[in-house]
Parts: sequence; structure tokens; C-alpha cells
Amino acid sequence: MFLKREDKEMSDCLFCRIVNREIPSTPVYETDKVYAFLDIEPEAPVHVLIVPKQHISSHNALTEDNVDVMKDIHLAVNEIVKKLGISDSGYRLINNCGPDSGQTVFHLHYHLVGGKSLGTKIL
Ligand code: AMP
Ligand code: ZN
Repeated sequence: MFLKREDKEMSDCLFCRIVNREIPSTPVYETDKVYAFLDIEPEAPVHVLIVPKQHISSHNALTEDNVDVMKDIHLAVNEIVKKLGISDSGYRLINNCGPDSGQTVFHLHYHLVGGKSLGTKIL
């Protein structure tokens, strides 16, 4: 029995396994296309990861065929910040893509950080 390349990527992928509830996480928000959960090593009082349920390896892998999920991700952000009470105080949305960014999990995700002043510098 051989797995297709895509199936193999998904069975090896940490965030696919979190989406499929094979690995526990603390849910924050969910739709049919998007799942958001607490980062296990938070770097701010609010640190949520927002992922498409579909496996997309990074921002580089977005195409005409899968980019529609970005609409769901951004609308999810607005629901999450309202739910967590930081829509007015503000927040930062970060995507790491590739080696220079330090991306460690190769399933597209956005870090939503806030709950404190993050300063004026991006890095
Ligand atoms: P990145 O460096 O952008 O690829 O971010 C990956 C993020 O996933 C890091 O902030 C990790 O703390 C987080 N992370 C790794 N494993 C888990 C997990 N099991 N549950 C929640 N967050 C995780
Ligand atoms: Zn995945």
C-alpha cells in the first residue's frame, strides 16, 4: 500500500494532525475551512495560530486554486480578535515563509499576537 505524495505530506504534518484532532490543541475558533488554536509556546499574552484545514505547505504554495481560503483566514482573524477582546487594542498578524523567516512547521499558518503593546518595530 503506497500513499500518494500529498497524503504522505499530510500524515507527516503536525498541523494536519492537530486539525484532525490526532494531536491535542486548545481550540480558539473553527469553521469548515479554518482552525485556530493556542500556540504551545506563546510569545505574547495572546498568541493564536490560524491554519487552513487544507494542507498548504507555505505562503509560496498559494495558487489560484487554493487562495480562496485566505478570505476565510482573514475573516477568522476578525472574529477571533473580537472574541478575545483585542480588536480595539490591536494585534499583529505574522506569517513565516521559508528558511530566512525561521518557518518550522510547513503547513501555512498565521501567528496572531497581541494583548500587550508590541512596539513600533516589526522585528
Ligand atoms: P513557525 O516558526 O512560524 O513555523 O511557527 C510554528 C509555531 O508552532 C511555533 O510558534 C510553535 O510554538 C508552534 N507549535 C509547535 N508545536 C505546536 C503544538 N503542538 N501546538 C501548538 N503550537 C505548536
Ligand atoms: Zn498540513
